[in-house]
Amino acid sequence: MMKWEIVIGLETHTQLLTHSKIFSGASTQFGAQPNTQACAVDLALPGVLPVLNRQAVEHAIRFGLAIGAQISPRSIFARKNYFYPDLPKGYQISQYEIPVVVGGQIEIVVDGQTKVVELTRAHLEEDAGKSVHENFVGPHGEPASGIDLNRAGTPLLEIVTEPVMRNAAEAVAYAKALHALVVWLGVCDGNMQEGSFRCDANVSVRPMGQSEFGTRCEIKNLNSFRFLEEAIQYEVRRQIELIEDGGTVIQETRLYDPDLQETRSMRSKEDAQDYRYFPDPDLLPLVIHSDWIEEIRAGMPALPATLRAQWQSEYGLSPYDSQILSQDRATADLFIELVRRLGAKHAKTIANFIAGDLASALNRSNLSVHELPIDIAQIEALLNRSLDGTISNKIAKEIFIFIWEDALANKPAISIDEIIEQRGLKQITDIGALEALIDGVLQANAKSVEEFKSGKEKAFNALIGQVMKASQGKANPQQLNELLRKKLQSG
Ligand code: ADP
Ligand code: MG
Repeated sequence: MMKWEIVIGLETHTQLLTHSKIFSGASTQFGAQPNTQACAVDLALPGVLPVLNRQAVEHAIRFGLAIGAQISPRSIFARKNYFYPDLPKGYQISQYEIPVVVGGQIEIVVDGQTKVVELTRAHLEEDAGKSVHENFVGPHGEPASGIDLNRAGTPLLEIVTEPVMRNAAEAVAYAKALHALVVWLGVCDGNMQEGSFRCDANVSVRPMGQSEFGTRCEIKNLNSFRFLEEAIQYEVRRQIELIEDGGTVIQETRLYDPDLQETRSMRSKEDAQDYRYFPDPDLLPLVIHSDWIEEIRAGMPALPATLRAQWQSEYGLSPYDSQILSQDRATADLFIELVRRLGAKHAKTIANFIAGDLASALNRSNLSVHELPIDIAQIEALLNRSLDGTISNKIAKEIFIFIWEDALANKPAISIDEIIEQRGLKQITDIGALEALIDGVLQANAKSVEEFKSGKEKAFNALIGQVMKASQGKANPQQLNELLRKKLQSG
């Protein structure tokens, strides 16, 4: 049996977060009535001229800086000529020979191993319109296809990797890392359902040890991580079977059908010369001065990878926790703010709270961190009362659920201290009170006491549980532990 090596390169279209199109003032708002948001410039009607959107360029620069790429001091917009119903003007404005972003890299972690994915380039371009096939009827009620040009001219950054990924898991890890990064930077909203982040996967196989690449196929428009993974897995199997049966892979563009879980041929692959690229005569070269780059660099947020390294070395967080805390900016900001308020020595407690109680509450309520229904001051107060021993861990969890549910029901917030006071939730640390509780439980559980004395440590835990229950969860666990043991050993 021949051993095959898989080779994958990804091209990702990320929609840049701007109010207006890349070359016109038309709105980029998603979901408007069809054909209400494409203006004369987007359609290249005669007599109009494109004007480059500064915000789109800024986003491209920000992305380039975040991946350690070179920002081209001078890049060129080119016309990529082709006919398609959703591109009535007959060409797409893109960048060809000199893209705005060159090189760079993104780190991924697969099975605990870190790998660097080298990027080739990232270039600015405009999106095309959309063909609408579903639920569309013609003027006489017949099934038909329509064209919605609202998306025409939407700014995209096409981000291209070198063919360096070697399996579907690496490709998915890269796509997820890239997605997290562009959302983190605020250059893309990351909404995959709305098409703001779509991947084309280039896949080929070659006999293990062969240095030349095999012929690749490009699977277009994968708009979920699951589809990306499934499409690559299917395509790899198809190519290997094809070659092993004596066939050859032809370079082509394929589409993934999630229902059938297979890829199928869409068109034979065009070569660059088919597009007759030439510099767009309506647009000047894009010249980026270093001052502008430095200004953008100065306004860059701390990057997730930097924060993870810092948290692990300064606070001793695990790679797992720091991964969870840096999954998006809202979570990272919350962590940073709570550490600022409560002190670095409590970073681990804060991390546990965010990755534990808070994460499950958000999950239950189907909310994300930036939709946090409770005030950060209330979280601070709750953690404070738990850290200073006023309430037990168990009670802190209960109060958290209580304030969470109240907030979701839009009830006015009650202060944590008031809740503790009103409900009598203070931890019992008074030795006399604890001893009274213990005595009561020991009397009622003679059997457990006997078992403990005959050497069964389990019985001790059962007794702890009983006292805890009798105290309604308020007994200070450490004191309870010590007092009970003393009592049992002396009695
Ligand atoms: P095109 O001009 O057709 O877009 P590129 O050379 O720009 O082709 O490559 C497009 C993508 O395909 C890149 O991500 C690149 O890494 C990837 N790629 C190129 N050759 C192969 C191959 N043999 N197998 C898998 N991926 C490849
Ligand atoms: Mg390409």
